[in-house]
Amino acid sequence: MRLLIVEDDAKLGNGLRSRLVREGYAVDLADNGVDGGHLGATEPYDAVILDLGLPDRPGLAVLREWRAADNLVPVLILTARDGWSERVEGLQAGADDYLGKPFHPDELLARIQALLRRAATARSPQLRAGGWRLDEARQRLVADDETPHGPVMEHALTATEFRLLRYFMRHPDQILSKSRLAEHVYDYDGERDSNVIEVYVGRLRAMLGANRIQTRRGQGYLFRSGD
Ligand code: CA
Repeated sequence: MRLLIVEDDAKLGNGLRSRLVREGYAVDLADNGVDGGHLGATEPYDAVILDLGLPDRPGLAVLREWRAADNLVPVLILTARDGWSERVEGLQAGADDYLGKPFHPDELLARIQALLRRAATARSPQLRAGGWRLDEARQRLVADDETPHGPVMEHALTATEFRLLRYFMRHPDQILSKSRLAEHVYDYDGERDSNVIEVYVGRLRAMLGANRIQTRRGQGYLFRSGD
């Protein structure tokens, strides 16, 4: 999942970015309204954290412009603590949620996760397939059927494996091109080499079984939700 933070306070922006990267998201950071507006209009983000008080272009104008262009990316706005009128304006302009400054990073994380869950097409909040469940908090793949006396079967996932698998599991039974997968797995400065996706798909197949992720020649990959 790929997130955009538009925040001109460098300390806050960088702190949020590090925290979200640790939680397994690919994160881009813009420090003004013009760059943030452009990134949000051209890159496929799964959610945006948008400060309203921004240099060059106010956050509200950025949000209105996205919504006028039918860009429905989930947006959480950051507002002044007592800025009730900002919150009202922001929600009316199409924000999905808001958080007043100062806030605790844990609350921001919980709200972003809730936004992503609401936006996900996944039918159940737990991501499951073929006897496996993705433990998003621990970034591990866990076997559904725990044997009564044996150890629970688990695979630890690298950050890239986790991002890729989570994207597959949230978009099951659809053909996903390598370039689309790469866009959602890497941030803007990432390697963006769609051939690397093949390597990671190979690693996921080794854990999930070879047939879970099918190759569609010339089109991409399809993650099967059924058995
Ligand atoms: Ca600001």
